[in-house]
Amino acid sequence: MNSEKHYAVAIDGPSGAGKSSVAKAAAKRLGAVYVDTGAIYRTIGLAAKRAGILPEDAQRLAGLLTRLSIELTYDAQGAQRMLLNGEDVSDDIRTPEISRSASAVSAVPAVRAFLLEMQREAARTRCVLMDGRDIGTVVLPQAEVKIFLTASPEARAKRRFKELREKGDGSSYETVLAELQQRDAQDMNRAIAPLRQAEDAVLVDTSELDFDGSVDAVCAVIREKLEQ
Ligand code: C5P
Repeated sequence: MNSEKHYAVAIDGPSGAGKSSVAKAAAKRLGAVYVDTGAIYRTIGLAAKRAGILPEDAQRLAGLLTRLSIELTYDAQGAQRMLLNGEDVSDDIRTPEISRSASAVSAVPAVRAFLLEMQREAARTRCVLMDGRDIGTVVLPQAEVKIFLTASPEARAKRRFKELREKGDGSSYETVLAELQQRDAQDMNRAIAPLRQAEDAVLVDTSELDFDGSVDAVCAVIREKLEQ
């Protein structure tokens, strides 16, 4: 692939489709930077929780944003880290409670507006694979490659259930599936920047693919689009 060329890859899709891990591995293979935008929404979800603000409370959230410092940085291994007022919260944002909070704060227009420039800035000078819900539709509508990565709700819930169990979380498969469907509905039906496939995005369904197969499929789409 022409490594001189600046490009952006937008990867959108519902929760649990494997976007983060697949995009991270694909970015490594292609020598690009991986940007996880869900982590930014999660950081705001965590900040709201710590401040005792209901994630749906648009007015208080808007006030909170003016007092927050949120930074997206990378450690020596190239892994993305989120800093909230200087504190590394990258591990604290990975709980089911913060997933719910992130989904709720992300429906607030002031939050999306606050984060827009930060996401665009991350893609300005480097080649990125950026994943989220509205990257191809709103954040980077000019992205050279757009992928909509999805899988059936059951396939996604099975993966998330396994992940949570490995972390020692005792949630049942039924609970994980119900939460995931609730989050899908919330993300797809919100008024602002709802989750949907961009018209020019390529659909990649990973229901029947394992991890390596998913990375291969994503890299194949990217290579093909960049070579066109
Ligand atoms: O991708 P992840 O599950 O970490 O994202 C957490 C939540 O943040 C999602 O449920 C979604 O509501 C929100 N989000 C968003 N737009 C993005 C990325 C994430 O609304 N670009």
